[in-house]
Amino acid sequence: TRTVPRPSHTRVFTVANQKGGVGKTTSAVNLAAALGQSGLRVLVIDMDPQGNASTALGVPHSTGTSGVYDVLLDGVPMQDVVTVSPSVPQVSCLPATIDLAGAEIELVPLVAREARLRKALHAYLDSLPAAERVDYVFIDCPPSLGLLTVNAFVAADEVLIPIQCEYYALEGLSQLLTNIEMIREHLNPGLRVSNILLTMYDARTKLSAQVADEVREHFPQQVLATSIPRSVRISEAPSHGETVITYDPASSGALCYLEAAAELADTGEERNSA
Ligand code: ADP
Ligand code: MG
Repeated sequence: TRTVPRPSHTRVFTVANQKGGVGKTTSAVNLAAALGQSGLRVLVIDMDPQGNASTALGVPHSTGTSGVYDVLLDGVPMQDVVTVSPSVPQVSCLPATIDLAGAEIELVPLVAREARLRKALHAYLDSLPAAERVDYVFIDCPPSLGLLTVNAFVAADEVLIPIQCEYYALEGLSQLLTNIEMIREHLNPGLRVSNILLTMYDARTKLSAQVADEVREHFPQQVLATSIPRSVRISEAPSHGETVITYDPASSGALCYLEAAAELADTGEERNSA
């Protein structure tokens, strides 16, 4: 396994794509687990009311559990609700409960409604002693461009877009990029799409290769060299409250997420200075 360097500062990623089922959650938790397994400290913020990232990290999120809703709406400090993942102790998670679904509407009349996550995250990161500094934050978004996703964009420095290697892969992407541009203009000038990850790649089909080529052509700087293969082990892992990194460490899915995570870490510093 490769040694993964610690970044010089906490890197905050939003994992976004308004399409559902493209591998946002799977990529957020597996990249987090891969970096955690390599000894880095990682925080996953689950912004999807479905709570799939919380499930995959084995973190309780049933109704009544405190989570991101309480942070956004009631001003509860993050340190009170962040929970360590039992499967990867270097990874902690701010869980999402189903009541987060109401937050899209409940946030509307609030002051600084777009910046509530950013404020809470900064307060949390600043409260940690140097020895506990978080290296990576991954914010897992719901499949929409509503206020929860806007909060994620405002809280982040970088966007990672997972793209499924299927027909219509690029559909909707221009809308996503337009929204990110609007966020840059009005709310978070430093935000940039730093990485694109090809997911559910099927080496047996021509279509996967064609889609991958097309995406690389459009975004030569951003697409990671490592693609994530379609793998049953990846899809089985969440039902065991685990990521594939611990569920089946020798599987192709685990190895590819480890490789993609190492690549993400390698490319970060030079891209940040660009
Ligand atoms: P999103 O968060 O974008 O909605 P998910 O990460 O939940 O997407 O993935 C959608 C479904 O596809 C889930 O059932 C997940 O387990 C499965 N899945 C994701 N990545 C892979 C993969 N590489 N191989 C096989 N199944 C995958
Ligand atoms: Mg998801």
